[in-house]
Amino acid sequence: MQTIPRVKGTQDFLNMCLYQFIIDSFSEHCALYHFNRIETPIIEHIELFKRTLGSYTDVVGKEMFIIKSPGDNKDELCLRPEATASTMRAFLESQQLMPWKVFSYGPMFRYERPQKGRYRQFHQINIEIIGAEHVSQDALLIMLLDRYFHEKLKLNSYALQINYLGSYEDRKKYTQLLKTFVDGVDGICDTCIIRKEKNTVRIFDCKNETCQKLYEDAPTMIDNLSAESKKEWERLQDELSLLSITFSVNPRLVRGLDYYNKTVFEFSSGQLGAQNAFCGGGRYDRLAQEVGSKKEIPSLGAAIGIERLMLLLEPLIDSLALPQPKPLFVVMPLSEEQNPLALLVADTLHAAQLSSDILLDGDSLKSMMKKANKMGASYALLIGDEEQRNKSILVKNMMTGDQEQIKQIDLVDYLRK
Ligand code: AMP
Repeated sequence: MQTIPRVKGTQDFLNMCLYQFIIDSFSEHCALYHFNRIETPIIEHIELFKRTLGSYTDVVGKEMFIIKSPGDNKDELCLRPEATASTMRAFLESQQLMPWKVFSYGPMFRYERPQKGRYRQFHQINIEIIGAEHVSQDALLIMLLDRYFHEKLKLNSYALQINYLGSYEDRKKYTQLLKTFVDGVDGICDTCIIRKEKNTVRIFDCKNETCQKLYEDAPTMIDNLSAESKKEWERLQDELSLLSITFSVNPRLVRGLDYYNKTVFEFSSGQLGAQNAFCGGGRYDRLAQEVGSKKEIPSLGAAIGIERLMLLLEPLIDSLALPQPKPLFVVMPLSEEQNPLALLVADTLHAAQLSSDILLDGDSLKSMMKKANKMGASYALLIGDEEQRNKSILVKNMMTGDQEQIKQIDLVDYLRK
């Protein structure tokens, strides 16, 4: 029989060191900024995303993993494609104090065409401030992220792009202006024809070079802001400059999801190839109302793609302060008669917080030593008839080959040294 392969677009993480390092370092960083960790379910009602992301976004339109529930259950459920809507739902259901500053991490699911850095099950860290009105909150969130990438992870080769989509009123007026512009150009692709009608600003996300050329002279959002929005947009840039955060303005940055207004931003790196964004976010003042709140709750957030961050960190792994594994002691009973004693010895080591493994399936001494070597053991602890009789252990240093007979009662003290 053939082995059943993993599902297309998914991956097995067989060494979690780097992944865990990212989670731990981000959690530590978030604690400094007073953000708390939360976790929301992986399954949600489809309605949550239809309402918030917009029916015409790619994510809702063609990338949802829909779950067939057993029995007559008519609930339309799906695997979450992102975490912001869930966080807002959790906020509204639990009535937390604002600002609610939280982060979470876990798998997301989108039926995309897999390629390097793009998966159908991928992992994100999400960070949100629910109840954040002032534009300085945007600067705070961007600062948190930039300091994490630059100071904590020591990444240099990335760029931060920002844009300002204005208030919902600004956006409405601008959309009309843009639509009139696009109506006047010939030769746009079929996707853009649909986007023009349904969600005009998303024409800027088109990968088609002909389209991009045609949009070079299109009016931009930041040139068409109301006086109030313009003031906020300038203030954001001033505050980022004050904080010495390097950024560039990309008037065509709109991001794929419908709910953004005002600030949007993206961190990207040329080292990632086509899928170059490893973090993106922005403001979503009306999202709460889409989820069912009676009033607007100005909020903002961001998502970091863990796989893409791992791709960036892999070449730098030696310079990262990854936790070093503890020395490993491998207990080797020389026959099955010694297995019970070996279990007791291992138990004593674990109780003393010493890391040990144990070879219980019987093998020649030579092949057990080979295994211990491959396992990266610092010491082999051999237990044969003689050791069992004398209540001792033969302790062998795997580096030097030196060995010494140690009384079982003295073993922990000896190994600690
Ligand atoms: P988004 O939720 O679309 O704003 O994406 C935020 C971040 O998640 C992106 O910048 C990527 O780093 C990551 N991401 C989004 N989609 C995928 C995917 N299909 N595979 C891997 N990472 C992804």
